[in-house]
Amino acid sequence: MAVQLYDTLRRTVEPLQSEPGEPLRFYCCGPTVYGPAHIGNFRTFLIQDTLRRVLEVDGQTVEHVRNITDLDDKTIRQSQAEGLPLAEFTAKWTQKFQADCAALNMRPPSNEPSAVAHIPQQIALVQQLVDKEHAYVSEDGSVYFRVDSFENYGSLSKLKQRDLKTQQQNSAGERNDADEYDRESVSDFALWKSRKPEDGDNYWPSPWSEGRPGWHLECSAMAESAFDGAMIDLHGGGIDLCFPHHENEIAQSECAHGRAFCRHWFHSAHLMVEGAKMSKSLGNLYTLEDLQTKGFPPAALRYSLIASSYRQQLNFTIDGLHAARSALLKMERFADSLLAVTGEDRNALATYINAETASGFGRFAKAWESLCNNLNTAACLGAIFGVIGSNPAPSLKAEDARALLDAFGSILYALGLQLYSVETPKQEAPDDILNLAQQRWEAKQARDWAKADEIRDELLSAGWVVKDSKEGFEVVPS
Ligand code: AMP
Ligand code: ZN
Repeated sequence: MAVQLYDTLRRTVEPLQSEPGEPLRFYCCGPTVYGPAHIGNFRTFLIQDTLRRVLEVDGQTVEHVRNITDLDDKTIRQSQAEGLPLAEFTAKWTQKFQADCAALNMRPPSNEPSAVAHIPQQIALVQQLVDKEHAYVSEDGSVYFRVDSFENYGSLSKLKQRDLKTQQQNSAGERNDADEYDRESVSDFALWKSRKPEDGDNYWPSPWSEGRPGWHLECSAMAESAFDGAMIDLHGGGIDLCFPHHENEIAQSECAHGRAFCRHWFHSAHLMVEGAKMSKSLGNLYTLEDLQTKGFPPAALRYSLIASSYRQQLNFTIDGLHAARSALLKMERFADSLLAVTGEDRNALATYINAETASGFGRFAKAWESLCNNLNTAACLGAIFGVIGSNPAPSLKAEDARALLDAFGSILYALGLQLYSVETPKQEAPDDILNLAQQRWEAKQARDWAKADEIRDELLSAGWVVKDSKEGFEVVPS
């Protein structure tokens, strides 16, 4: 069954397939690296990662490009606030992003180009647009795209059917800050921004002025360069990017190259937290690290961020994260029951988690079909728990259990779920800590409360807590 996906441009669910013999070229707008990515960003990136995995299980070769936005108002402003050169500052946050992605079991993209590394390509693209009169140079040497010159402008977000006033908002309904979105007026947008004092050292020479590219330009230039001029098959991003960012990408690329930019548009809905928009001031802006500090493993976060349909706004809650953890534990017990039949230990599960299904999906056919049907992860998980609930293991022969593990492993691969990572292994205290705890216990028995308290504090500052019970004591990490 071919993978089908809703296309924002045509407003219909369409099969996803590359040209015969060609890889499926999948471009995703990447993170702006000026701080840690938040769970809203990860919702979008995880949905994209899941789709890529589904395509791999479907047997397709995916060329996945996700850029790094290391040059915009935010990266420049924040690097200056921290007194760091832009390259050093963005390298730090790029590494953090990549480490978080790895913790969330995301497949690394085939290519992760950065905007700063593509200045010549961006200048060349502006030049083509100027030459073709789709762009004009302003008095200060900035260059603007002439939106009137592109008849199809707005077709992705159906902008022409809207009141002009809504152009002040992006497609997630958020107000566009004129500077953040590089907009000089309601229509034309900046391709090249002439240098301003607040840009500091972050400017490059160009035929028009010293300055830097506008933010929208980078994806057009990087997609062109990463795919060697070939059309993008599938382009992803959060729904907020549909307008103006993706409209502008289309306008720039189609006017410069005179051909279609992208075949299929894939947008995921925004994430809310406990029913509210995420914001620093509400204290509900979570990073992966925040949730790990609260004791949640990355696998539970991955589960909870992909568990509902990508086209519906996801209301993230801490309760949902607890439920995700329980769901993963149920999957672990199910895998345990099958491994007991095959006579293998938990380490063997990894050998079943891959994109190949030796003999089809069997009992997991419904789970797989749900993923192929517009990435319906919620229905997929429902189908998985249907199989788990039917408790098939006791009646299976070893070879049937292996076949079921094969199918289950491919579904786990598609969802990117890692089992046996949920329970935090018990950490044994080293001998010196155990000795101290024993001395405290003896002080307590001798009713030397002062000494007992002193040792308790010493243990605490070494990162250990003593828990007393009738039978004795236990030392656990604080
Ligand atoms: P940024 O780092 O702001 O450039 O965003 C990176 C990606 O995260 C883009 O695809 C955005 O559309 C997406 N994104 C930003 N905020 C949210 C959110 N609250 N929910 C889902 N996706 C988001
Ligand atoms: Zn982009």
